[in-house]
Amino acid sequence: MFIIIGAGFSGLAAARILHKAGKDFLVMEARNRPGGRVHTLRYADDRYLDLGGQWIGPGQHRMYELATEYKLEWFDTYNSGKNIIDLKRKIRTYTGLIPGIGLPSLLNIRYVISQLDRYAAGIQTRTPWQHNRAAFYDSISLDCFVRKNCLTRNAYQVLRTGLETVFACNLNEISLLHALFYIKSGNNLNTLLSIEKGAQQHRIKGGMQLLAEHMAQPFRERIRYNHAVKKIIQNEHEVVVSGEGFSYRANRIIIAIPPVLIRDIRFEPALPFQKQQLLQKLSMGTVGKVFGVYPSPFWRKAGFSGQVVTDNNQPFQVFFDSSPADAGYGVLLAFCIADRARHFFSLQEAQRKNLALQNFARYFGRQALQPDHYTDHCWADEPWSGGCYAALYPTGAWTSFQDELSKPFQNIHWAGTETATEWYGYIEGAVRAGERAAGEILSKA
Ligand code: FAD
Repeated sequence: MFIIIGAGFSGLAAARILHKAGKDFLVMEARNRPGGRVHTLRYADDRYLDLGGQWIGPGQHRMYELATEYKLEWFDTYNSGKNIIDLKRKIRTYTGLIPGIGLPSLLNIRYVISQLDRYAAGIQTRTPWQHNRAAFYDSISLDCFVRKNCLTRNAYQVLRTGLETVFACNLNEISLLHALFYIKSGNNLNTLLSIEKGAQQHRIKGGMQLLAEHMAQPFRERIRYNHAVKKIIQNEHEVVVSGEGFSYRANRIIIAIPPVLIRDIRFEPALPFQKQQLLQKLSMGTVGKVFGVYPSPFWRKAGFSGQVVTDNNQPFQVFFDSSPADAGYGVLLAFCIADRARHFFSLQEAQRKNLALQNFARYFGRQALQPDHYTDHCWADEPWSGGCYAALYPTGAWTSFQDELSKPFQNIHWAGTETATEWYGYIEGAVRAGERAAGEILSKA
């Protein structure tokens, strides 16, 4: 008997393998739904909004294979027309990935991106701490590197916004080594920043959570929802997993939950102190999504892509057109990250809505003031995530703790996107990590 803790993509990917191998297993899930950090809000009969993870892109092979296996269709993210940049409260339009903000700034941005990509290319994602400059890369923050290499204020502001959006944190919250590892795990920075040929290229028709639901369907009777695990006791022969009103025994277990939440589980015997120390160091990113839903994507008619990049004078870092495949209604999606999220989500709901719609109207006109529907959602508020997109490694964490997060501890194995060596922080990484952990326990069975 095996137990998997967590029915996010990682836990579900592990469970799929055990199910296909004909093994006896149960999945314990604290929430009342599968998908974890992927959550599709369905409303008004046929409308939906992806509050959490929503995009897939080239290089994420398992996502396309799974979508194909479950006969789910994907579609292109809308990416035509003029983009907007709002710097020093001045609005300009541009096309392509990098805005026209003056040649020196433009060249500077290209230089910093190419430097990050060049350094990242030398990192082995299974052993980032072994790089010959790892000690140096791990001693400074990403912010320190970017500030040092940005020669103009505009270049810094644009890069800062782009990188905050990639990592969902202030740039001083992660070490340069973590940033390089993360970039390499998703190929390169251009891939992570881009729609076309990048990590934002496609969406699943009907919402990303559909894929989690399809994955869970064949073994749905084995998933115990509303089962938050609070205690794990193990000896040589078995592991006892318990929470309020339940207790189950297994030979081996897989824990596929965000690292910061592992700290809330009581382990007997205690986890190795190195793992506990790493768990104390890791924090989660801070991200909220803000949606305005309109009868149609009206900005397209005016020649806009719906994409906006702003500096920190504005409440949101970036915008996307997140309308459904048939554009039957229009969805503007703004990302609110790190300090901007801490400020925005400290406001009352009515104030947030007012501020958001005024901001939407700043770029797309008065029509943006009248949505059919408004929703905002902060992941730092979710007790079963503790933040998003993923765990952040501060300076010193990779070099001191190496692969401590994914090392098995007796009969306990570890999954979750944070244990991935490819596509760390992404759904693809979660799936690959779940499959790796399932392989580990099957090889011991
Ligand atoms: P989780 O999804 O966190 O699953 C863990 C599960 O464990 C959860 O269901 C949780 O309820 C459960 N759990 C926690 N504690 C316990 C406990 N004690 N007992 C039992 N169960 C427990 N990725 C992309 O690839 N593309 C994107 O476009 C993208 N955008 C994102 C946007 C946002 C706003 C967010 C929030 C995330 C985004 N991500 C994106 C990241 C992606 O969603 C995650 O990397 C991925 O879903 C993580 O999956 P996981 O299975 O590792 O963890």
